[in-house]
Amino acid sequence: MLQELHALPAGLPETEARDLASRLGGPTLIHLPGDRRPPLFVSVLLHGNEPVGWNAIRSLLADYRRGASGDVRLPRALSLFIGNVAAAAAGVRHLPEQPDYNRIWPGAESRPTPEHAMMRQVVAEMRQRAPFASVDIHSNTGCNPHYGCVNVLDNRYLHLATLFSRTLVYFIRPHGVQSIAMGRLCPAVTLECGRIGERLGVDHAREYLDACLHLSALPRYPVAAGDLNLFHTVAQVKISESVSFGFPPGRADLLLSPELERFNFRELPRGTALGHVRAPARVWLEARDEQGRDVTDRYFSITQGELRLKRPLIPSMLTRNEAAIRQDCLGYIMERYNNRFPR
Ligand SMILES: [Zn+2]
Repeated sequence: MLQELHALPAGLPETEARDLASRLGGPTLIHLPGDRRPPLFVSVLLHGNEPVGWNAIRSLLADYRRGASGDVRLPRALSLFIGNVAAAAAGVRHLPEQPDYNRIWPGAESRPTPEHAMMRQVVAEMRQRAPFASVDIHSNTGCNPHYGCVNVLDNRYLHLATLFSRTLVYFIRPHGVQSIAMGRLCPAVTLECGRIGERLGVDHAREYLDACLHLSALPRYPVAAGDLNLFHTVAQVKISESVSFGFPPGRADLLLSPELERFNFRELPRGTALGHVRAPARVWLEARDEQGRDVTDRYFSITQGELRLKRPLIPSMLTRNEAAIRQDCLGYIMERYNNRFPR
């Protein structure tokens, strides 16, 4: 299922994300040489509707091309994994018959599929190459700042992430994400480059990758406290399967606040309303902590027909995109974690 190449196919940087499936035939791992080794590992298009990483790589490769041959000469070797090209052709996160390509890396708890085996193969291949660092590039559907995510609180990982943004999220759930699997081999980060389709995200990711390719080492000393806004994801929030939801002026069991996306990365006070509910005494939301425990009642209550916060919290990834809410989740709950990073 995995195709492995040791050179850049001619014309690949000119190829749009939606045309990669016909150009490559499937998920592809490409190893390119560079002045330094070991390689930087970069994954793009784990979600087919997020071409930001591919567009950043295309722009980077075009800049490092030499002469008419089309060869690239990079400051550091690069192993590039181009993920769900079939979903990219359709412009969706994943096809209905496919698993989510960022929930199936080693450590996933989901039912094994051929795609799980493919990600195992990618990790095994990269383990042999002892990568310098790993970067997985995403965008999202809500209104969020650009930020990095790490799954290990180690100074090298924090330096890798703060090179992208001082806003940083630490999480250990959901399982099966790329940065947890690759984080066992090398410093690893997931980049969230703003909203899907924003040019700024592509430019930022491109600059970041260029900086990573020029790094000689990742420091082991602490990141200065002032250079870091660290949050810890404490729960994932889903809307219960049986509940219909929407936004005003629609009609649904749960009508969410049109302001929802503006709450992201903001400290919300207790009592903040996230939406109206139509009937009492039902399970509206499901919040699960990092151990998978149901913590819904800790954070949410229904008061006078409104879904309200029981305690102050900082959400992320809240979105108005109804397909994203159903396919993935409504958002995450975070707490500040600055006092917890290594000294
Ligand atoms: Zn994504």
